[in-house]
Parts: sequence; C-alpha cells; structure tokens
Amino acid sequence: MSRVYNFSAGPAVLPESVLGRAAAELTEYQDTGQSVMEMSHRSKAYEAIIFGCEKSLRKIMSVPDNYKILFLQGGASSQFAMVPLNLMRSGKADYMITGQWAQKAFEEGSRFGTATAVASSKDKTFSYIPDVEKFDKDADYFHICSNNTIFGTRFDKLPDVGDIPIVSDMSSCILSEPIDVSKYGVIYAGAQKNMGPAGLTVVIIREDLIGNAREGTPTMFNYKTHADNQSMYNTPPTYSIYMHSLVLDWIENEMGGLEKMKEYNQKKAAILYDYLDNSAMFSATVQRPFRSLMNIPFVTGREDLDKKFIAEGVKQGFVNLGGHRSVGGMRASIYNAMPIDGVKALVEFMKEFEKSN
Ligand SMILES: *Cc1c(COP(=O)(O)O)cnc(C)c1O
Repeated sequence: MSRVYNFSAGPAVLPESVLGRAAAELTEYQDTGQSVMEMSHRSKAYEAIIFGCEKSLRKIMSVPDNYKILFLQGGASSQFAMVPLNLMRSGKADYMITGQWAQKAFEEGSRFGTATAVASSKDKTFSYIPDVEKFDKDADYFHICSNNTIFGTRFDKLPDVGDIPIVSDMSSCILSEPIDVSKYGVIYAGAQKNMGPAGLTVVIIREDLIGNAREGTPTMFNYKTHADNQSMYNTPPTYSIYMHSLVLDWIENEMGGLEKMKEYNQKKAAILYDYLDNSAMFSATVQRPFRSLMNIPFVTGREDLDKKFIAEGVKQGFVNLGGHRSVGGMRASIYNAMPIDGVKALVEFMKEFEKSN
C-alpha cells in the first residue's frame, strides 16, 4: 500500500515530510522522554511549542503587532457565533452570501442581531463573486468567506467597505498566498485544510475588537478570555497546534514562504484549469475571474459518467474526488500540501478517461 493522491476538501492532505517528522517525534519529543500528546500544556517544553507556533505564523503571514493570534477549538463553525457575540455591538452586520459556509455564517449571525445579506451569488449557483452595490455603513462588521470550499470561487479583490472591519472565513485558503492582514478586522480558519489536522481553529483579530462581547457571552466564547491567557485559559488542542507548527516550518523552510507558495499553487491550479478549458468531456463550473486556487469543481455533464470517473479514480489512487454532497459532480481540492505531481497525474488520468469513454 502506498500513499494515495488525496483530493479531500478537509481534513486534507498534509505534507509528507511533516508526517515523517511527526512520526519520528511521536513517542519521544526531543529530550522530554514523552509524546507531545502526553505533555502538560503548562510545561516549559509545551510553552516553547505553542509560543513558537504563534511566532512562526505571525512571521509567515506578516501579522501586525496590533493583532492577536488565538488558538481555539470548535471549528470555523463556532466562529459563526463567536464573531457576532464579540463584535455585534450596535446589533447590525453585513454578510455576503457567496456559498454554503457564508450562508451558514449569515444564518448564525441573524440569531444575534440584524444580519443583512448585502450581496449574493445564489442566482447562478454561487459560480461567481457578486459586486457590493449597497451596504449598511453603520454595521459592526462586514462578513465574507474568502474562498468557497464547496463551489470553488474566491474573491479576486476585497470589497471596499470603508472603515467597517472585514471579517473573513479563510478556512480553505489561509496560507495559500500572502495577504495584507491589516485590511481585516478578524480572520478565522479551521485548521484541517491548509494548517494541520482538525481540532484547531485559528483566529487573527485586531486588538481593538477584543473586549466588547455582549452581556451573557459564555467565557469560552469571549475572545478576551483567550487573548488574556495566551490561548491557554483551558487546555488548548495541544497536538494539533504542534502539527500546525510543523506545517509552518514546512512552508517557511521547504516551500520558501507564502510568495513561493502562491506561485506553486497558481502553477498547480493552471495545470488543471487549462485541461478543463480544453477538454471536450470535462468542464470547470466557475466563472474565470473567480476561480479558486484551492478547490476546483468540474463536471462531465452526465451524472453516470461522473460516477464512473470517481469510481475509476479510486482504483488508480485518486481519492475524494466526489463533489460536495449538495452539488454533485467532481471537486479536486488541491491545498498547499498537494504536490504538483498529484495534479499532473490527475490530468493524465482524466485524459485517459476522456479517450476511452
Ligand atoms: C471547512 C469549512 C468550514 C467548516 O469548518 P469546521 O472547522 O468544520 O467548522 C467553514 N468554512 C469554510 C470556508 C470551510 O472550508
């Protein structure tokens, strides 16, 4: 049995060298005589891991000093509630509806105040990013989902909303390219796509947005709790944070940082999109300017052929190519850790399939 090419949308492929390092350190971490999983989070050895991880993420993403990095749990889905609990001071927020996750964030936000859907691309099955023509200038924040994991779109530019803090769900694109963190109020992401294994949720938040949680906010749902305690108010997801730190080392030392990561991701995505745009059988479903570098949905136009393709793929070591259960078709998630050889091999397989069907 050898490793497959895993196109899962999440939890997703991890760099092989990261898995190798984790394996080598699994039972004894450095000279501690114990696994990272067994360590007290209050120990010196673990403090070095979590603080080192924070430092490394801050450096790689150029996170400004007036932003806190929080290592939380509960997934990106918990942030759908944590954001309004902490930021909806006047009770109003704007949301862009560009996919299923954005819709869920909007619905959750609506439970805490007046959430307004200021733009939506639902009319064309979320295949593009709509313009923002009108928005509430008094809103407490403006929520977007930078990369739509299910439908495969991404923002090609940020909407101009003046001083309203932009809150972005970056679960499926964080660390895929450099971004200007100072343009955002809050960035959050579940780790299981581009950062490491599941169990860790990363929040990057401008300091002035911390400390204004509404009355009754549970202690664990208050950003201030975690900011004041360096993400160790309670037991953090220790092993996932350790794995995240290894992924960050890989980005910095093996991939050469985010500028290089972006070039690599663009190269990978271009291989697949070019083939899709020239194939007589397969086609991409997303309008060109909004195509994701991370999640690439495609179809044959025939459900039976889609099914056959997915099944034959599995036999050849290409797994998790089925589209999200809500949309069908295929989707190749090609996150940071998907090697370019995996994308090339997939395209070769698609060419063969096209010839013989
Ligand atoms: C995967 C994903 C989520 C859900 O993340 P959980 O950590 O499972 O809650 C939310 N938003 C986006 C954009 C995602 O890709």
